[in-house]
Amino acid sequence: MPSTLDPELRRALAERVRYYRELGIYDFYRRESRAAQSTEGAPAASETVPAFLSLTPSSTIESELREEMAARKSAVVPTKAEDNVLEIVTPKPEYGVADPVAALKLIREDLGDCTRCKLHEQGRKQIVFGVGNPRAELMFVGEGPGADEDAQGEPFVGRAGQLLNNMIKAMGLRREDVYIANVVKCRPPENRLPEKDEITTCSPFLMRQIDTIKPKVICTLGSCSAQTLLQTTQGISKFRGEWFDFRAAKLMPTYHPAYLLRNPGAKPEVWKDLQKVMAVLGLQPKKR
Ligand code: SF4
Repeated sequence: MPSTLDPELRRALAERVRYYRELGIYDFYRRESRAAQSTEGAPAASETVPAFLSLTPSSTIESELREEMAARKSAVVPTKAEDNVLEIVTPKPEYGVADPVAALKLIREDLGDCTRCKLHEQGRKQIVFGVGNPRAELMFVGEGPGADEDAQGEPFVGRAGQLLNNMIKAMGLRREDVYIANVVKCRPPENRLPEKDEITTCSPFLMRQIDTIKPKVICTLGSCSAQTLLQTTQGISKFRGEWFDFRAAKLMPTYHPAYLLRNPGAKPEVWKDLQKVMAVLGLQPKKR
C-alpha cells in the first residue's frame, strides 16, 4: 500500500477489508491494472480480486469510500477505531481458529517479546496481555498497565484492580467470568498516558483479542480506551453512560476505577453505567 494514500481513505479501506473478513473472506490478491491487462491479456483466475485492494483504487471504489468517509465525518462520535490497514490485510495466525483459547494463545505468541513501540525500552518488566474468560460476554478495557500490573503480569491487580473486582462482584459476576485487557500492553513510564504512536502500534492486538473473544458488551474504563475504540478526542464525561456500537458488540464507556479512587463521588454514576450493562446481559445484582 503506498504511503501516500490519504489517511482517511486508508481507514475506509480498512473498514471495507474488515467487512469482507466478517463475510469470511480472508485472502486478497492484487489485480493487474487495466493497462497491464490490455497489453498482457486477461489475468489468471487467481488474480481476479476485489477492486478495493488494488494499489490504485478505481474511481468507483474511491468515490464509494470517500462517501463513507464523508458520512463518518458527519457523526458526532465515530464508532470505529483507526486501523492500520496493513495490520488487517496481513493474514493473522488466529484466523480460522474457532477455539478462542487457542486463538488468544496464537495472538500472544504473535506479540512475542514485543519491541514494536518505544514502550518496550522504557522500563517495562513484562508484557501484560490480558486475563479472564476467552468466551466472556463482558470485556473490560483499560488504558495500560501500572506498576502492580507490570510486576505481576496481569491487568488491574493494584488498588484500582481491587475496586474493579468489587464492581464486577456487584454485577453478580466473578473476575474469572469476564475478560480484562488494556489498549497498550506495556507500562508507560511514570504512569503517563499512552502516546498516540504507542496506541496506534499496540491497539491492533486489542482489536484481535476483541475479535476472538466476541464479547456482547465492552465496557471501556477511562478516557484512553473509550477514545481509542470510538476514535474521538472528546472527554469521557461528554459521552460516558451512552451506548455505542463497536463491531458486533455494544460498548459502554465509563470512568476508570483509578478515577473513582480519587473521586469516590462519581461511583453512583459508574454504578448506573454498570446497571445498563447488567440489563443487556440479563444480570442480577449480587445479594448482600
Ligand atoms: Fe509492543 Fe504493545 Fe508493548 Fe508497544 S506497548 S512494545 S506495541 S506490546
